[in-house]
Amino acid sequence: MATATPDTYTEKTDEQKAIIEMVRQFADEQIIPNAEHYDHEDEFPEPIVEQMRELGLFGVTIPEEYGGMGLDLTTYVMIVEELSRGWISISGIINTHFIGSYLLMKFGTDEQKQRWLPRMATGEIRAAFSLSEPEVGSDVQAIKTSAKKVDDSEPAMYEINGQKMWVTNGLMSGLVFVLVKTDPDADPRHRGMTCFVAEKEPGVGENTGEYAGFTVPPKLKKMGYKGVESTELVFDGYRCPAENVLGGEQAGLNKGFAQMMDALEVGRANVAARGVGIAQRALELALRYSQERKTFGKPIAEHQAIQFKLADMATQIEAARLLTLKSARLKDAGERSDLEAGMAKLFASEAGRFCVEESFRIHGGYGYSKEYEIERLYRDAPLLLIGEGTSEIQRMVIGKKLLSRHKI
Ligand SMILES: Cc1cc2nc3c(=O)[nH]c(=O)nc-3n(C[C@H](O)[C@H](O)[C@H](O)COP(=O)(O)OP(=O)(O)OC[C@H]3O[C@@H](n4cnc5c(N)ncnc54)[C@H](O)[C@@H]3O)c2cc1C
Repeated sequence: MATATPDTYTEKTDEQKAIIEMVRQFADEQIIPNAEHYDHEDEFPEPIVEQMRELGLFGVTIPEEYGGMGLDLTTYVMIVEELSRGWISISGIINTHFIGSYLLMKFGTDEQKQRWLPRMATGEIRAAFSLSEPEVGSDVQAIKTSAKKVDDSEPAMYEINGQKMWVTNGLMSGLVFVLVKTDPDADPRHRGMTCFVAEKEPGVGENTGEYAGFTVPPKLKKMGYKGVESTELVFDGYRCPAENVLGGEQAGLNKGFAQMMDALEVGRANVAARGVGIAQRALELALRYSQERKTFGKPIAEHQAIQFKLADMATQIEAARLLTLKSARLKDAGERSDLEAGMAKLFASEAGRFCVEESFRIHGGYGYSKEYEIERLYRDAPLLLIGEGTSEIQRMVIGKKLLSRHKI
C-alpha cells in the first residue's frame, strides 16, 4: 500500500465492475423511481428488499461456505455507495445486517456461524445492531441495560433488562447484536460489557413464548431516513441463552465493548460510502437542473457562481470517495484503518451534507418542493453526521489515534 496512487484506490476488478453496474442499474430502475412513495408514506420498501435478497445483497461479505458471495469490504463500500445514491434508507436496511455478519464472522464460534450465517446470507433473517440508549449515545460505556445469569443448568440462561434506543431495523430484524452490562463493578467500565445475539420474531412488536420480555414499541417518527424503521427496544426479563454470548460464554463474556468498537470501524467506512452516494446523487441533480433552469437569459449553469458550487461539490465527492476506498482497502489488507475510517466517515458525511445543501440552493424554490428529489435528500443527509458516531466523536477518534501513532 505504500506506493498507492489515487488510481489504486478507485480501480475496480472485472468482478467489481460487473457488480457495481448491476447495483447501479438496480438503483436507477427500482430504487430511485420508488423512493418518493416509500419516503412519503414512511413505509418499509418490501418489494425492493425482496429484490435485494434475490440479488444476494444481504450476503455480499459472508463467505461462500455459508452461502454468501465472500466479497471484501472494498467491494461492499462500492455497493453501498450505489445503493445510497438511490436512497440511503435502502443502504440502512443492509448496514446493520452487514455489521452483525461482520461480528459473527470475526468473533462468533463455529456453532454460531453455522447457526445464523447461512440464513443471514439469503436475507431470510436480518440483523440489527444496538448500542444506544435513551440517555446514552456517544458515551457508550455509560449504558445501563444489563444481563444477569439466572440459570446455571443446561441450557444456562441470562436475563436481560433495560431499554435501547434508535435501533435501525429494530422491528424487521430477527437478530439483534446488543451490548449490555454484565459486570456493573468493572473498572474500567468497558471490561464489564457483553454482546448478546438476541433472537426475536421479525416484524412482531410484543414477543411471546421463548422471546417473551422483548418488546419493540412503535417506530420512531423521523425527519428523514424514512422507510427503514428506527425503534426503541424494551427488555423486561428477556431470557437469552448463554450460548448466544457472541464468541461463546467462555471467550465472549465481558468482551463486548472491544467487539462492538471493532465493528464500528467497518461501520464507519460503510457510513462514509453512504455520504459519497448521497453527495453523488445531489451533484447529478444539480448538474441536470442547472443546465435546464434559465435566469437572466441563460442556463444558470453558465453563471460562474453556480459553476463554483458544482466544482466544489465534485471536488469534495472525489476526495470523500478516495478516503472511503482507502480505509476499506487498508482494512482488507489487514492493516490498521481506525484513523482512516474515522477520517473517511467525518469527511464523507460532511461532504454529503455540503453537496446536498449546495444542490438544494441550486434548485431555488423548487428545492423546497416535495416534487423534487433534492427535498428528500435534504432531510436524509443529516443522519450521516450522527450515526456510527457524530462528527465531534470522529474528531476525537482521529485526534487520539494521531497522538498514539506519533507519540514522542
Ligand atoms: C436515525 C438514527 C438511527 C440510528 N441507528 C442506530 C442503531 O442502529 N444502533 C445504535 O446503537 N444507535 C443508533 N443511532 C444512535 C446514534 O448512534 C446516536 O444518536 C449517536 O451516537 C449520538 O448519540 P446521542 O444522540 O446520544 O448524542 P449525545 O451523545 O448526547 O451527543 C449530543 C451532542 O454532544 C456532542 N458530544 C458528545 N460527547 C462529546 C464530547 N466528548 N466532546 C464534544 N462533543 C460531544 C455530540 O457530538 C452531539 O453533538 C441512530 C440514530 C439515529 C438518529
